[in-house]
Amino acid sequence: MTHTTVAAYASPAPKAPLAKTTIPRRALGEHDILIEIKFAGICHSDIHQVNADWGVGTYPMVPGHEIAGVVAEVGSGVSKYALGDRVGVGCFVDSCRECENCKAGDEQYCTGAGGMYGTYNSRGRDGEPTYGGYSTHIVVDENYALRIPEGIELDVAAPLLCAGITLYSPLAHWNAGPGTKLAIIGLGGLGHMGVKIAHALGAEVTVLSQTLSKREDGLRLGADHYYATSDPATFEELAGRFDLILNTVSANLDLNAYLSLLRTDGTLVQIGGPEHPMEVAPFALIPGRKSLSGSMIGGIRETQEMLDFCAQHGIGSEIELIEATQINEAYERVQKSDVRYRFVIDASTI
Ligand SMILES: [Zn+2]
Ligand SMILES: [Zn+2]
Repeated sequence: MTHTTVAAYASPAPKAPLAKTTIPRRALGEHDILIEIKFAGICHSDIHQVNADWGVGTYPMVPGHEIAGVVAEVGSGVSKYALGDRVGVGCFVDSCRECENCKAGDEQYCTGAGGMYGTYNSRGRDGEPTYGGYSTHIVVDENYALRIPEGIELDVAAPLLCAGITLYSPLAHWNAGPGTKLAIIGLGGLGHMGVKIAHALGAEVTVLSQTLSKREDGLRLGADHYYATSDPATFEELAGRFDLILNTVSANLDLNAYLSLLRTDGTLVQIGGPEHPMEVAPFALIPGRKSLSGSMIGGIRETQEMLDFCAQHGIGSEIELIEATQINEAYERVQKSDVRYRFVIDASTI
């Protein structure tokens, strides 16, 4: 078998607008499945990578790691999926499978050479460049695909593959549930998923946003409280309040001010990835035995757990569905935070 050629939207060079093109997809290996992509979410990190904000990547670059579709073909040894199954692909398509983290199901923290194999802007096990979800089809090893349960539409499921798991994983790791006083900083693509999931887990959810402009949305999505961080009174009123704070903001914040909102033994988890370092005063952590931590997406097993949980609780992303020709415009709007709350590309328009 030889590779197949499929349609995709790619950026030909750093910062260049995306345009329609064709890309190769590898021939189906024994454990591979061919997915007909139905929907692909636009993650802010797609834009960072197209713009080479985190270093120059490989071009042409086909972004997209929030992929939902159906199985269109299976390799001879595939046992987990059958034709027509509803499946998703997230931020990675393989990993070393041998390191401590892979064995523990934390493939996202793979310590093998090169780490996890990114869904795009990376290399596959075959050494060839990987191309993401802004495309009509993708070939992936069955062990790195996820089952999308009945009960979630594929369009609102797509963003769960990155935004959903990015919030679910720390909520699960730090045992957010009934009795947990949780704050989420930022109500964007990530934050809005956190509000929905944390509310379904039973936590008491507070949104900390720059202004109150999205307050109604926040409360509708499941937040119990909503505060503006531009108001200094917020920090006085909420001092020592939270067990757990998830910071989804990708810009530098005064972490010390937010650490002051933790109660004893509380943890602030950094999820957003600002470009520049942030200063932390030791005495923001020492009194109260506070922790500052980080978290990145989730492993395959945990991502499946998240999808099952979301289906059970009727949770999908809030989306604006677009055609492929609107991708560049959508990128501009994401950079202005002008989206409620995730753009999703209808792959039938590619
Ligand atoms: Zn992402
Ligand atoms: Zn590994």
